[in-house]
Amino acid sequence: MTEPIKMAYLYEDLMNTYGDSGDVKILRYLLQNQGYDVHVDNVSLNDDFNAKDYDFIFFGGGQDFEQTIVAKDLQRHHETLRDYIEAGKPMLAICGGYQLLGDYYMTSDGTTINGLGILPLHTVFKADSRMVGNTHVKTPWGEIRSFENHSGRTYFDKDSNLKPLGEVLEGYGNNPEDKQEGLHYKQTIGSYSHGPILRNENIADAIAKMIIENYQDRVKTVKE
Ligand code: GLN
Repeated sequence: MTEPIKMAYLYEDLMNTYGDSGDVKILRYLLQNQGYDVHVDNVSLNDDFNAKDYDFIFFGGGQDFEQTIVAKDLQRHHETLRDYIEAGKPMLAICGGYQLLGDYYMTSDGTTINGLGILPLHTVFKADSRMVGNTHVKTPWGEIRSFENHSGRTYFDKDSNLKPLGEVLEGYGNNPEDKQEGLHYKQTIGSYSHGPILRNENIADAIAKMIIENYQDRVKTVKE
C-alpha cells in the first residue's frame, strides 16, 4: 500500500466555526481526485502530536471560550509547530487559529491569552465593533470571496516584514485600518475567511499543490 498524505486537524472538536471543517474536506477531495490516499488525524486536548509526521496542518476558528482552553493546551506543541512552519511546510490557520499563531490575544477586559508566539503578530479584542460580513480579497492566486465574523483585530508587529494573504477589496480582514487580510509566511497561510475559504478553487488548488510537493519530499526522505 502506498503511504497516504497525512493531515493534522488541530482541535476540530473545539475550533470549527462557520464551516471551517469544509477546508479539510475540500483538500481531501482534491487530493483523492488526483489519486492520493489521504489520512486525517484529529488532534485535541492532551493528545500527542509531532508536526513533522504531517504534510499539512489545519487549525480552524473558534469562540473565545474554546479558544482560551485551546490556547493553554497548545503551548505543549510550540516547538514542533515552530519547526514545521519554519521548515516551510504547509499550514492553513483560520480566524481564532490564525490569532493563536501570534504572540497574544488581548480580551476586552484586558486579559491576555498567550498565543504560540511563532509569528510576530498580536490580536486585540474589541467587543463593541464586531467585524461581520462578506469579504472580497485580492491574493497572489487571484481574487477570493468569503465571510468573516470576529472581534479580534490582528496587527503585525512593527518591523516584522510579515506579508498579508491579500489586499481587502470588501470587508475588514486583519483589522479595520490596514486593508490587509490574513498572512502568508513561507507556506503558512493565516486568514479571517470562513465559508470555508477553500470553496475558492484558486487558493484550494494552490494549497493542494503545496501539500503534494511536501508529501513527495517526505516520502522520498523516508525511502532514502
Ligand atoms: N473569537 C475570535 C474573535 O472574535 C475568533 C472568532 C472566530 O474564530 N470566528 O476574534
